[in-house]
Amino acid sequence: MRYLIFSDIHSNVEAFERFLAQKKAKNVDKILFLGDLVGYGPDPDAVITLFRELPHLRAVRGNHDKVIADLESSALFNPAAAFSAEWSKLKISPANLQYLKKLAKGPQVIDRFVTICHGSTFDEDYYVFSQFEATESFRFMNTSIGFFGHTHFPIIYYLRNDKLDVVPLTENARIKLDRNTRYLINPGSIGQPRDKNPSSSYIVFDSGKMEISFNRFSYEVARTQKKIRDAGLPELLASRLEAGV
Ligand code: ZN
Repeated sequence: MRYLIFSDIHSNVEAFERFLAQKKAKNVDKILFLGDLVGYGPDPDAVITLFRELPHLRAVRGNHDKVIADLESSALFNPAAAFSAEWSKLKISPANLQYLKKLAKGPQVIDRFVTICHGSTFDEDYYVFSQFEATESFRFMNTSIGFFGHTHFPIIYYLRNDKLDVVPLTENARIKLDRNTRYLINPGSIGQPRDKNPSSSYIVFDSGKMEISFNRFSYEVARTQKKIRDAGLPELLASRLEAGV
């Protein structure tokens, strides 16, 4: 079984279209999305429309999806996130807003191998930034492999013989997984990478070969930045894209 795993599109239609055109992103059996279709970027409605066409899809909602779908208030967001959330609500068609509202809450168990979540396995909004948080997340996971998003930072945490360790995900990495080890894996972000690399990233997991491949691709950042500025969204949301932060 081949799984395509990606996260955090954040209304960036240029990056999302490039992702859909990637050769490695095709010929998969399951597509798994880890949340935050919208928020920050200039094209929320176009992103949802494209996303809805994906086959074999399982998805969880992200914190921005929840706020923009009016399931939660934007009061806890930072000013740029809150501004873009309120702006996005006005740009999404009623049918796409309904779709956003119905996105599943994580975690979701996909099959006997795989769980997906946005933040952590115990709280969809909780950031897994360190080994401490990863340890907590392993405790609440019943499968051997979990995929999470939210931090926009590609990384693999693994737990072998009660010992936790980390593998960084470098460009074009292929990593063999061990059947006696548990993994929590973040594919990075499609629409707003934050590991100081502006290229989008995603993962393909082959459960037959027990192998992860980590892939990056570039897109027309300047075009997305221009749309952000033309829409009057906060400048920070444009400038951070080229820095990858
Ligand atoms: Zn996000």
